[in-house]
Amino acid sequence: MYILPRICSRHLRQLLGKSFFRYASTSSQDVPHVCIVGSGPAGFYTAQQILKGHPAARVDILEKLPVPFGLVRFGVAPDHPEVKNVIHTFTTTARNQRCTFIGNVEVGKDISIEDLQKAYTAVVLAYGADDDRTLAIKGEDSPNVISARSFVGWFNGLPQDKDLPVDLDVENVVILGQGNVALDVARILLTPISILQKTDISQHALDALSRSRVKKVYIVGRRGPLQVAFTIKELREMTKLPDCRPVIHKEDVENLDKVIKDLPRPRRRLTELLYKTCMEPSDTDTHLWSQASKEWELRFRLSPIEINEREGKVTGVKLAVNQLQGDDLINKKAVATSETEHIDCGLVFRSIGYKSIPIDPILPFDTRKGIIPNIKGRVKEKPGLYCSGWVSTGPVGVILNTMTGGFETGKIVLKDLEDGIITSEGKRGNEMIKEILESKGKQMVTFSDWDKIDEEEIKRGSVFGKPREKIADISEMLRVAKS
Ligand code: FAD
Repeated sequence: MYILPRICSRHLRQLLGKSFFRYASTSSQDVPHVCIVGSGPAGFYTAQQILKGHPAARVDILEKLPVPFGLVRFGVAPDHPEVKNVIHTFTTTARNQRCTFIGNVEVGKDISIEDLQKAYTAVVLAYGADDDRTLAIKGEDSPNVISARSFVGWFNGLPQDKDLPVDLDVENVVILGQGNVALDVARILLTPISILQKTDISQHALDALSRSRVKKVYIVGRRGPLQVAFTIKELREMTKLPDCRPVIHKEDVENLDKVIKDLPRPRRRLTELLYKTCMEPSDTDTHLWSQASKEWELRFRLSPIEINEREGKVTGVKLAVNQLQGDDLINKKAVATSETEHIDCGLVFRSIGYKSIPIDPILPFDTRKGIIPNIKGRVKEKPGLYCSGWVSTGPVGVILNTMTGGFETGKIVLKDLEDGIITSEGKRGNEMIKEILESKGKQMVTFSDWDKIDEEEIKRGSVFGKPREKIADISEMLRVAKS
């Protein structure tokens, strides 16, 4: 009878791994309560790691919006539904008995980080990069100079951007920036409505895009074709857009064949595609492109210096022609010359990157890098505070990179628990913060509330033959959540 537990424990140790077993004796008072701020990929992957690595830890995910998933819902383009499959994994995590989603709570406003630290063993900041970088040039505040971040939010049903005043009654558009977000914006502007209407793009955006007169989109970078930040999948999609022709200038790419072989693999494949699209297009593509009614054009070595407007309407962008300096083939620096160029257009998108903001005065913040200063996810000089995702690295990389970072931060929290660097004594978790939020009359959204919103959105989408129609109004989300 008494031998059995010992045999079981050895087998259990083998089955469940060392870290699981290490915590098996956790008593109810020292159950770790971990709070994660933000329910994007960083938040969910960090939560997943902590729940997997500790048999008793409880994880609460606080989200400022009433709905979860961050940029997977509000950033990823509507015509990339496969990318959103990560939501299934996040949903499994959220349904874990030891995980609690609390939406509609803005940390720094509804509750302070100090309060969270009193209630939780560890607080992980995973609140992303909600702001965008600006150009600081004349005319930037003119109507129809739009941040790509807001435009993406607009077509993805982000409440704060649903009324974006974007005027698509123009033929020429300039996008400043050559990353994947710039290509997402260009693709959405140029994709036939018949394709977009089958996606979960917001109906207000679809209506506006169906009246759009946009015919030509310039995608402008300050450096050259070897420095573009977009990736091959997104470029290939652009070359395959129906009724749309790519314009890549021969003088920009004709010498690239000499250096292609020396490039690292992803950059090599991307550069090959740029080169071939311009220099060696297939007969089919040449034929299709000759008949297209719309086009996009890559322009290199240009930095905006002024946005021109007349009578409240954008008329174009004045740009400095740059020279590239530096010995390294890829890491070259753009230096403006005295030469300038002008591109006529009626709409300008600024797509030069996102940035994080400090959400609470007690938080250390590196304003230059736009991140919370940290060492491997531990916030510098703030024991018990951690960070993960774009707020810790800056707005770089895809969901896969954010996943790796989230797992790493999760492991660091587990290690600090194990080493006794953080303790759970007196920490009551959400029991404590709910008291504070309730006293302020805050409506908290649970994951089952989200299920109701989800169900309602899918129902509304089916009316239009779409996978979902996102509710873009916070009070409406809250009403459905309560129903
Ligand atoms: P986020 O996803 O931004 O999550 C942060 C969360 O924190 C949000 O839900 C936010 O509402 C919440 N929050 C903010 N402030 C507070 C607060 N004070 N209190 C509580 N909660 C708060 N990657 C791909 O792999 N494929 C793609 O196709 C792709 N497309 C993209 C398109 C765009 C336009 C952008 C910008 C990015 C795209 N990415 C894509 C990259 C991917 O979205 C990021 O790697 C990832 O979302 C970063 O995760 P995060 O959790 O750090 O931030």
